[in-house]
Amino acid sequence: MIEYTREELTQTIPTEELFRRFHNEEVVGGYCRECENYGRSWGCPPFDFDAKERLRQYQNVLLIATKITPREQGLPLNVAEELILPERRQIDKHLLRLEKEHNGLACSYVGKCYYCAEEENCSRLCGEPCRHPQFVRPSLEAYGFDVAQISQELFGIKLRWGKDGLLPEYLVIVCAIFYNAPEK
Ligand code: SF4
Repeated sequence: MIEYTREELTQTIPTEELFRRFHNEEVVGGYCRECENYGRSWGCPPFDFDAKERLRQYQNVLLIATKITPREQGLPLNVAEELILPERRQIDKHLLRLEKEHNGLACSYVGKCYYCAEEENCSRLCGEPCRHPQFVRPSLEAYGFDVAQISQELFGIKLRWGKDGLLPEYLVIVCAIFYNAPEK
């Protein structure tokens, strides 16, 4: 097991501010369209609903950034999933709990959906509904938000990419909950 430290930071901003400052459908949506998962997973675009309308039902968004720093530097890039997956599982559970508590909507981490077994293809490929819709939530990227910019401007964390087959100094997971403030 790879040893690492984790740091969690949160920020709450109005949904409209998130759209104004960080929504860039043209660029981020372009990356999605180039990805091999595009249209092949229920967690990825294109969606059969109006994504903006869905998010704009909520006034506020709580953003959660998790910075994962391996104790040992210079690890090979292919261990990234080993570091990220246990964190994703924990964060997703936390997000779904918050979603329920606040009657909101969670956005989880971008990446391959892990709710179906490795050997099963996503049911979207055969035009069938998702097998675990109670768990699957599209990411901020899937909705067209620039997560690198969110991480840098709201959390002061610059995203880093692997180089020469090695992991960067740290990895960052950015997730969110859209919610409405309780009526007074
Ligand atoms: S849970 Fe299964 S069916 Fe649903 S999006 Fe994930 S891989 Fe596809």
